[in-house]
Amino acid sequence: MVKVRCDMAEQALKGQRILGSSRAPKVISQERICIERDCETKLSRYNRREQCYAHAPTKFPRLRGRVVTDA
Ligand SMILES: [Zn+2]
Repeated sequence: MVKVRCDMAEQALKGQRILGSSRAPKVISQERICIERDCETKLSRYNRREQCYAHAPTKFPRLRGRVVTDA
């Protein structure tokens, strides 16, 4: 009796854990690059702009010529 209850609890926990880890957030798999013609900088999927940091209009100029987004 006790063992059964124990197993059930364990299963419930395992099930929860599996659900939790396999539940991935929706991700835009499509890769985007800067719209500037000669620029092939990848845009972060979190970057909603269509230009890389180097080309995006911003008050603060980025000194890094390259933005490596490894996601
Ligand atoms: Zn660019």
